[in-house]
Amino acid sequence: MKIYDLVIIGSGPAGMSAAIYAQRAMLDFVMIEKEYMPGGQVVQTYEVDNYPGIPKTNGMDLGLKFSEHAKELGAKSITAEVKEIYADEEIKEIMLKNGDTLKTRTIILATGEVHQTLGIEGEEKLKGMGVSYCATCDANFFEDFEVYVVGGGDSAVEEAMYLTKFARKVTIIHRRDELRAAKSIQEKAFKNPKLFFMWDSVVEELEGDDILQAMYVKNVKTGEVTKVEADPEDGMFGLFGFIGTVPNTKIFEGIIDMDERGYIKTDADMHTNIPGVYAAGDVRVKSLRQVVTAAADGAIAAVQVERSMSDYF
Ligand code: NAP
Repeated sequence: MKIYDLVIIGSGPAGMSAAIYAQRAMLDFVMIEKEYMPGGQVVQTYEVDNYPGIPKTNGMDLGLKFSEHAKELGAKSITAEVKEIYADEEIKEIMLKNGDTLKTRTIILATGEVHQTLGIEGEEKLKGMGVSYCATCDANFFEDFEVYVVGGGDSAVEEAMYLTKFARKVTIIHRRDELRAAKSIQEKAFKNPKLFFMWDSVVEELEGDDILQAMYVKNVKTGEVTKVEADPEDGMFGLFGFIGTVPNTKIFEGIIDMDERGYIKTDADMHTNIPGVYAAGDVRVKSLRQVVTAAADGAIAAVQVERSMSDYF
């Protein structure tokens, strides 16, 4: 059976950047893409204005540019989902859900993270029926409707602003009385005439038979619970959750060292606790999760792989 130099798990900015560096280093590698649409979480981001050299792009374009770049250089990828990995030995095995197994000397884990759900009654039932976690994907369903956004970070505020292009009115529901989002983002938000705020508030329960029609919102300072109902003429409203993220690391539990939230611990050169296994991008413990830092991690990890296989270092 073929033994690769490297398998990259994940095709977001960290995985793509690792693929670009691995290809240029002429490593024999493959990248595993879980989704048919590569690019990772960034493709769901409406506007990216902080990736050096590419001002005011959108996430979809940036994700596709990464992908095109890697593929133009000749990087190979497969679409598959990883079931488990065996990483203790020098030759590591990656078992895929389709039944295939890949053998490799090194692995870069670049599986990123996913949105956190609100964890409230009615949420599961109404997902895709008024409840969403992706403005870029679902904003146009709410053209001229009322929309609520839960959260106070960069994602909540940026995506709420994007939603104002579609919705009649957008209200951010935040559990405190000040936003966590960067000041530059806040400034734009406070000037947006279609954007409103419900401070010190948490959504406790959602209601609706086939579509989101009502919710109970509690003021955490007064304890008062308000029932928010859809405008009778609309019959529905939208609720978008942007309350942070959780890492895609379930399948590595018990194998790779992680912090208490499940993010993978690495050193500055992306080594995990297992020799030959590296982690890059949002999936690892770090202080700044951005496209630019994910891309940097991927580059560092791939160069470390190259060095581990070269007599020159
Ligand atoms: P985040 O910064 O962790 O913010 C999560 C927000 O949700 C916080 O305001 C938090 O409230 C609130 N929250 C958490 N749990 C909650 C719960 N159970 N109920 C209600 N509210 C809850 O997450 P993010 O906005 O997704 O951003 C993630 C990372 O990506 C950050 O590092 C961010 O800077 C980065 N990012 C950057 C950009 C950009 O640079 N343009 C864009 C998007 C994201 P508290 O404030 O009270 O904790």
